[in-house]
Amino acid sequence: MYETLSLYIDGQFTGAEGRKTQPVTNPADGSVLAQLPHATREDLDRALAAAQRAFGEWKRVSPLERSAILRKAASLLRERAKDIARNIVLDMGKPMAEAVGEVLSCAEHTEWNAEEGRRIYGRVIPPRNDQVRQFVVREPVGVCAAFTPWNFPASQAIRKIAAALASGCTIVLKGPEDAPSACVALARAFHDAGLPPGVLNLVWGVPPEVSKHLIESPIVRKISFTGSVPVGRQLAAMAAQHMKRSTMELGGHSPVIVFDDADVERAADLLQAFKFRNAGQVCVSPTRFYLHEKIYDRFLARFIEKTREMKVGSGLEEGVKMGPLAHERRVPQMEAFVEDANMRGGCIELGGGRVSEAGSFFAPTIVTNVPDDSLLMTSEPFGPIAPFVRFRDTDEVIRRANSLPYGLASYVFTTSLKNAHAASTGIEAGMVNINHFGMALAETPFGGIKDSGWGSEGGMETFDGYLNTKFVTQLN
Ligand code: NAD
Repeated sequence: MYETLSLYIDGQFTGAEGRKTQPVTNPADGSVLAQLPHATREDLDRALAAAQRAFGEWKRVSPLERSAILRKAASLLRERAKDIARNIVLDMGKPMAEAVGEVLSCAEHTEWNAEEGRRIYGRVIPPRNDQVRQFVVREPVGVCAAFTPWNFPASQAIRKIAAALASGCTIVLKGPEDAPSACVALARAFHDAGLPPGVLNLVWGVPPEVSKHLIESPIVRKISFTGSVPVGRQLAAMAAQHMKRSTMELGGHSPVIVFDDADVERAADLLQAFKFRNAGQVCVSPTRFYLHEKIYDRFLARFIEKTREMKVGSGLEEGVKMGPLAHERRVPQMEAFVEDANMRGGCIELGGGRVSEAGSFFAPTIVTNVPDDSLLMTSEPFGPIAPFVRFRDTDEVIRRANSLPYGLASYVFTTSLKNAHAASTGIEAGMVNINHFGMALAETPFGGIKDSGWGSEGGMETFDGYLNTKFVTQLN
């Protein structure tokens, strides 16, 4: 059975009950799975009031007690992982193994925040006068409004929920209407773990209307958004206008650099699997492939061979490595990239279009010979299209890698210390992966620079977004 879709406000799960609804579809076949209730303005105000009231109590709950509730929620997520994952496959489309992995990583993030939230320390500063005591304390910012996308419907939300709750904040979350089951399941896990009413609230609606209402509310002190750069700009501007803190996890256009001294076959195998994970709908997806001219042909041949072997289909089918795009509207977006590549003299080596009549399947696509200023090389495709270009020397490729306004992830394959050092110091990005992929762990910071946003989620840095710094000086 698919999840019973609800709002979650002040500890109560509420169905449509006369509210507006929107259909939630299965991208693998276009069928309607359920109706999602939209929050009314009164619902949003109730969620805000509940979060405000609950903040007064939650911030006083000891970190040890908060940690116990978070750990209980994590263990419920582990127990329920298969059911939650199946619903993610149904409403979002990714393969089952990826969905299970996503839910288990939510449990891990929750556990890590539960533990690390107990180590939010202040400090004592030596005074200039021995009658003075001066110290710094970190206090939760208050009620947070969070907006999360559909590509990792569980893990994008848990990074915000777990960090906010472990810091002592309360939260009103607007999840992704296209793939809502995971956020409802997260709310159920926290509810069943004994989270007090109002600490976590979940709402749905028309995104710009909900975000405006929440961001403009004087109750909200902090905004956190994961999504596209244009929407991030709007929400950041609104947050700034109301002088609110914000964390922005926005899009990327991650460069991949494969040097001539790399283990080419290993690099091709790893990058091939990583590129098409979640059908390329990943903000850190490897996006522009700069291949040294000496290994270009070898890399391309191996990448094509591996891609041909990859099974595309419904995420519930055994052996499927790539599912449909998350929504039908994403297919024409992919077609526009391919059309532009064709017009700019690109060569479609593989794929290039829709896979079948039913469902929003788009073929894994490999494009060569596209100019650096083509749409594919400059705008985020957020889908299963990989453009390959050649480079000759290190300075040139780092300059090309830095030529876009994005600065999220980057990937480098080399066996030379010199190249690795040049890339890790020269690339303008929030994350540099050398010879492997090691991002998005609970204990490591994740975030971008330039147009890709600001603030980190994960690692100790995650709490910076949810804490104020207070200085206390006291004369005895
Ligand atoms: P979109 O920009 O319309 O929506 C992206 C996400 O933002 C969705 O979850 C949507 O509900 C939300 N959103 C949109 N307008 C909003 C608003 N005014 N207030 C609050 N939330 C709002 O694009 P789309 O067609 O759904 O997805 C395609 C693009 O989104 C991609 O090109 C990619 O750049 C971006 N995206 C990024 C991430 C990420 O992890 N950084 C995730 C999903 C989508």
